[in-house]
Amino acid sequence: MYDVIIIGAGSMGMAAGYYLTESGQTVALIDAFDPPHDKGSHHGETRLIRHAYGEGSSYVPLALHAQGLWETLEKRTSERIFVKTGVLNFGPKDNTFLETVKDSAEEYHLPLEVMTAKDINQRWPGFQLDKDSIGYFEKSSGVLFSENAIRTYRILAERKWC
Ligand SMILES: Cc1cc2nc3c(=O)[nH]c(=O)nc-3n(C[C@H](O)[C@H](O)[C@H](O)COP(=O)(O)OP(=O)(O)OC[C@H]3O[C@@H](n4cnc5c(N)ncnc54)[C@H](O)[C@@H]3O)c2cc1C
Repeated sequence: MYDVIIIGAGSMGMAAGYYLTESGQTVALIDAFDPPHDKGSHHGETRLIRHAYGEGSSYVPLALHAQGLWETLEKRTSERIFVKTGVLNFGPKDNTFLETVKDSAEEYHLPLEVMTAKDINQRWPGFQLDKDSIGYFEKSSGVLFSENAIRTYRILAERKWC
């Protein structure tokens, strides 16, 4: 008998299973494969996490909350979960996505470095952006190790009941 049964134990399902287990619920996770695996959206080593969202500022509180949870998870494991590489968004000056990145950062007082094409080309010589481009560098964002995260959620949740 379980309190909750979750079908699909990838990024969302395994995280939900972990937090439900932490809250004292008994949880069964059902998956077609053996997560983490290479047949889901979570496959591969890494994913970006951004805070100043270009898709809309309403995502920012969720992203910041998630960031805190990733950092807490990392303290509970020897696995690498997050590396603060920073994230650079760039494109044409009038790009709507980039304008929303800037608005999101302003609304939530996030650190965002406004960079010209020249700044970017100098700091990262692999880029050769034309002069009409603009960039926003968000130094507090970075890279999540998605398969490590799923593996860690699974190990910690299983350990609680074994
Ligand atoms: C190439 C790529 C790059 C991406 N880059 C980023 C990024 O940089 N930053 C970011 O935030 N997001 C990124 N994403 C998106 C992110 O990876 C997904 O949003 C996230 O992994 C989705 O989680 P999920 O739990 O919905 O899916 P999954 O992690 O795929 O989990 C679904 C699980 O359900 C199982 N399942 C499916 N059907 C059944 C069934 N019928 N019965 C039993 N089990 C089933 C699957 O086996 C799988 O384990 C990227 C995605 C891809 C593919």
